[in-house]
Amino acid sequence: RFVLGIETSCDDTSVALVDRNGNVAAIETMTQFDVHEAFGGVYPELASRAHLDAILPTVQKAMQSANATPADLAAIGVTRGPGLIGSLLVGLATADALSLVWGVPVIGVNHLRGHLRSVGLDGGSMPLPAIVMLVSGGHTLIARMENEWDISLLGSTRDDSVGECYDKVARTLGLGMPGGPAIDRLAREGTPALRLPRPMKAEGFEFSFSGLKSAVARQMEKAPETPVADMAAAFVEATIDVLSTKADRALSEHPAKALTIVGGVAASPQVREAMQTVAQTHNVTLCLPPTKWATDNGAMIALAAWDYIERDISPAPVPKPNLPLGTP
Ligand code: ATP
Ligand code: FE
Repeated sequence: RFVLGIETSCDDTSVALVDRNGNVAAIETMTQFDVHEAFGGVYPELASRAHLDAILPTVQKAMQSANATPADLAAIGVTRGPGLIGSLLVGLATADALSLVWGVPVIGVNHLRGHLRSVGLDGGSMPLPAIVMLVSGGHTLIARMENEWDISLLGSTRDDSVGECYDKVARTLGLGMPGGPAIDRLAREGTPALRLPRPMKAEGFEFSFSGLKSAVARQMEKAPETPVADMAAAFVEATIDVLSTKADRALSEHPAKALTIVGGVAASPQVREAMQTVAQTHNVTLCLPPTKWATDNGAMIALAAWDYIERDISPAPVPKPNLPLGTP
């Protein structure tokens, strides 16, 4: 038995079939980088149109690739928020229609809970309690997870998310979308000669990244001859310094068994390496999603939906653009 997971909260149309143990029987994803590249960010109206074109063929391909029929489905899990309203609506309306036609129940899933469950895909596990850091395109937060349904927020960003900062710095440096991987690669070739600010590093669990982004832009204006690889290296160094300092502080003040990093930025090899060091210092297990499950995907939504089934929680498939972390 599988859950069919549907994710359309932002700019990826992604559909997966996943069993209770997190084995992914099929995954089909259509990205929209070419649609939004010229705008330097996701253009909401175009995103929902692209989802509309992609969603049914993507569902069909996923079902075929798993060799599944509707009778093999325990439920359809679909992202209900947070995300762009128009994008969410396409996934939700599709899930609703399929539920009616196939006679399979539909569950509205919290996208952030999906990211948290991404570490459970492909046989991964997470000891609890855990300190979890969600670093994505729309969020940057650190929380303590007591169990799967009891999560207390320690702090989040006051302005930009880390992922946004990667994307904007990539734009400043003239790299294409997606910005994250391009910066990772370039940073490896440069030296962090320049010291960039580390906003809010010294205290607490809140973050601020807009100053770092502006510092990069100012430096490139002031000294356009600065090698972009060096700039990327300095940016990555500053970002990782802030993220690992916060993770380290969280583990000192709120002891846990695991350090878990999820969200698109958890795909960064530099972030993964730095967090390994933090986890070793505190002698806790480091839990990372396999790189391909760090960014948005239907598989993590399907696995999260299994938890809802187990608890008999079934939020309606209605869009909630600002759904917070603590809500199912
Ligand atoms: P949210 O989940 O908060 O609603 P989102 O779904 O848009 O936001 P994700 O798909 O989890 O975000 O992550 C996308 C972000 O991750 C982008 O900002 C991108 O730059 C960043 N990212 C992706 N790959 C990498 C990488 N290898 N290194 C650094 N950042 C990366
Ligand atoms: Fe996401």
